Amino acid sequence: MDVALYEGKTLNITAEISRYNDSEKNRMIDKYRKAAEKKAMVCPFCHEELRLRAGEINEIHFAHLKGKSCQQSEAYDTYHNQTKRENKKHSVIKEIIYNELKGQELIRPDLKVEYGFKEKAEEKWKNYPDIYLNKNGREFAVSVITNVHEIGDEKIVKTIHKRNKYFKDKGLESIWFIEDRELADDYGHRVLHLWEAEYSLAIKTEEDYKWDKLLKEMSEEFPGQNIPHLFGYRAQGTMKPDVRSLYYVHSMGDDITFSVYRLILDQMKSPFRGFALTEGYRMNISQALIVRDEILLSDKEQEESNRRDFANQVLLQVEVLKAETALRRRENEVKYDQKVREEYFPSSVQEALAEATAVYEAVDIDIVEYVSKLKYLSLSPNEANSLFYYLKQHKGELEDYGLSLTEVKRWVRYALGKISEPKIRTWLVEIEEL
Ligand SMILES: [Zn+2]
Repeated sequence: MDVALYEGKTLNITAEISRYNDSEKNRMIDKYRKAAEKKAMVCPFCHEELRLRAGEINEIHFAHLKGKSCQQSEAYDTYHNQTKRENKKHSVIKEIIYNELKGQELIRPDLKVEYGFKEKAEEKWKNYPDIYLNKNGREFAVSVITNVHEIGDEKIVKTIHKRNKYFKDKGLESIWFIEDRELADDYGHRVLHLWEAEYSLAIKTEEDYKWDKLLKEMSEEFPGQNIPHLFGYRAQGTMKPDVRSLYYVHSMGDDITFSVYRLILDQMKSPFRGFALTEGYRMNISQALIVRDEILLSDKEQEESNRRDFANQVLLQVEVLKAETALRRRENEVKYDQKVREEYFPSSVQEALAEATAVYEAVDIDIVEYVSKLKYLSLSPNEANSLFYYLKQHKGELEDYGLSLTEVKRWVRYALGKISEPKIRTWLVEIEEL
């Protein structure tokens, strides 16, 4: 073990010795060894005396007297080995999270917060979470992970799987916080690019179940629609509507914040990715770590509003899709019409037909408004033209607007008595003859 209690304080011998240059090191080691022999160093856990060992083979460390090692110090060593791969930020972030949760322990009698290795030392676990949390009997393993990319992805993936499984077998739910430098989100393409390790770190929280519910409702409302596809997400295969979340830690010295990303994981193959349901949002530490039934890890209001936005986006995408489909169908019809024309009619007839079609296309008018324009004599020649074609096609539907052809014709006659513009009169006369 690298720590001992010395003069009332924890002394980390590795850190202490590394402060000196090579020529001074041996002198310092000798100094601490002598102090230990004189019983000045004790175990921070069991308070038995420790000796300093600094052999050629073994790294410098403290050891209990022969055969007297304690469970806590063994657990400490296991944990220490397990966290060797992490960078310096790991312990800073861990301590901040620990302190925040420990603060809540004071005001919540059903909450217990402890370092993982301390809590489970007696059970001699193979791995320990950074922080152990017990909320009214529900247990959580809180772990911070850094250096995700440095070691071969495969190795760390195995480690994560092993730990997730280990904690699960022990009855704990895992919560992971990932160092933010791994974050690669592209909300424009609705995608989160992931390391395989990150893929394995996506967890399921209370808010994710609410998202699942929303997705279920949306797929019932729009059967047959593939939601990621609606947003232009390029899926690698079939995706189950199983919402997960990823938590990233951003640290600037002692100041840390979290951000949460909700996603649907794509197929478990390289390149690893997921469909981003929302743009990630940041939370400060106290907001993220409020403990209710579980660690909150979310801003409830933000989530509600994100879900509302998402539902609206889906609705909009469905409308866009419908419009696009209609447009494509229409384009195909037009292409077909053109083809028929080109094959069967000489060009002069084609031109005449095109003109007629153009007029027909323009007849989707607000009939009530047009009749009112007729009454106020404010109809333009083009509008008179549209009115004629509209009536020609839709005279049977006038009732739907509380009108009748007879009534419209009465107003046409009235207008003919007042309007002298020949371009308008031509069309009004046509209407009279319908
Ligand atoms: Zn001890």
